[in-house]
Amino acid sequence: MTTALADSPTLQNSTAVRKARAALARRQQAPLAVEDIDIAAPRDDEILVRMVATGICHTDVVCANGFPVPMPIVLGHEGAGVVEAVGAGVHDLAVGDHVLLSFNSCGACPNCRSHEPAYCHQFMGLNFGGVRLEDGSSPLSQHGEKVHGQFFGQSSFATLAIARSVNAVKVDKSLPLDVLAPLGCGIQTGAGAVMNSLKVRAGRSLAVFGCGAVGLSAVMAAKVVGAAPVVVVEPSAERRALALELGAAHAIDPTRTDDVAAALRAASGGGGFDYALDTSGIPAVMKTAVDVLLPNGMLGLIGIPPPDAPMPMSIMEIYVRGLGVKCIVEGDAEPKVFIPKLVALYQAGKLPVDRLIRKYPFEKINEAFAAAAGGSVVKPVVTF
Ligand SMILES: [Zn+2]
Ligand SMILES: [Zn+2]
Repeated sequence: MTTALADSPTLQNSTAVRKARAALARRQQAPLAVEDIDIAAPRDDEILVRMVATGICHTDVVCANGFPVPMPIVLGHEGAGVVEAVGAGVHDLAVGDHVLLSFNSCGACPNCRSHEPAYCHQFMGLNFGGVRLEDGSSPLSQHGEKVHGQFFGQSSFATLAIARSVNAVKVDKSLPLDVLAPLGCGIQTGAGAVMNSLKVRAGRSLAVFGCGAVGLSAVMAAKVVGAAPVVVVEPSAERRALALELGAAHAIDPTRTDDVAAALRAASGGGGFDYALDTSGIPAVMKTAVDVLLPNGMLGLIGIPPPDAPMPMSIMEIYVRGLGVKCIVEGDAEPKVFIPKLVALYQAGKLPVDRLIRKYPFEKINEAFAAAAGGSVVKPVVTF
């Protein structure tokens, strides 16, 4: 495809099948295979997006290594790019628009209609099913064989992606798509946990467990809302330093601290915290988070726990202090509303997501994947 073709209005809704370069996950625990695939034209409610960049999120790593998704599949769910074609039923986006892609939702269930698409009744099928739910088809194929797509309504590890109006957020053309791509999941999840899910208030204290992209986004958002103090617990010295630069008042190394709960209480300046956010998914860490909460405190859980792990605290422990526990999906965000807010914060210098990012060319996606899996890079972003 050339730009000249994409700009031609007569070809905007072309039914032509297009060639794309894609990173395929063919089996678990194996490197992604960068190969040519075919992409069908967008259906009525879909858009075709030429990718400029895509972040790599922990969920991509988990799905490539064991979380059940049908294979072969094109993963990727923090896409950013330029609209190349729109379906006949899409009226809020046009060819040439710059978009950030986020998670998929049905748009019609009671939660979607109540502006809570992260809890769409069809969330799992729409985001992890690998096919269009209405007929089981995929817009992706290779030599006539089905390749699963639709991962988070996008499958952005490819030069072209089919998304929907509901999960594409238009942004100004002056903005750097290779910096803002991770707003679609990781950044939105961490910032949304603070701003939407826990509704952290100014002057109240927050403990953040784990300083990956989600935890550090929570730290940045906590500074925006005026939370104080914000204390992080993170084993990596590099990430602790970054957390301090981004707004944390104290950073505790759990590997060199005998009693993490005691260290946290001391750092809080008030005997404990009003809010605690776990991004680790480790039950023992969640238990510490509960231990350091003040009466009427709120615990937010984002990290993916072992599948069979029970809650690591008794009902009495949370009952007598009136604690709340919120399991958080996608930061309780409605992407079309929340992502523009995050973009405005970025433009105001209050959400420096560029500090979290390292860029990799698409052909080196396996290197970027290894960096995400091993934790050496907070947020790898692949560019096309
Ligand atoms: Zn829904
Ligand atoms: Zn994600």
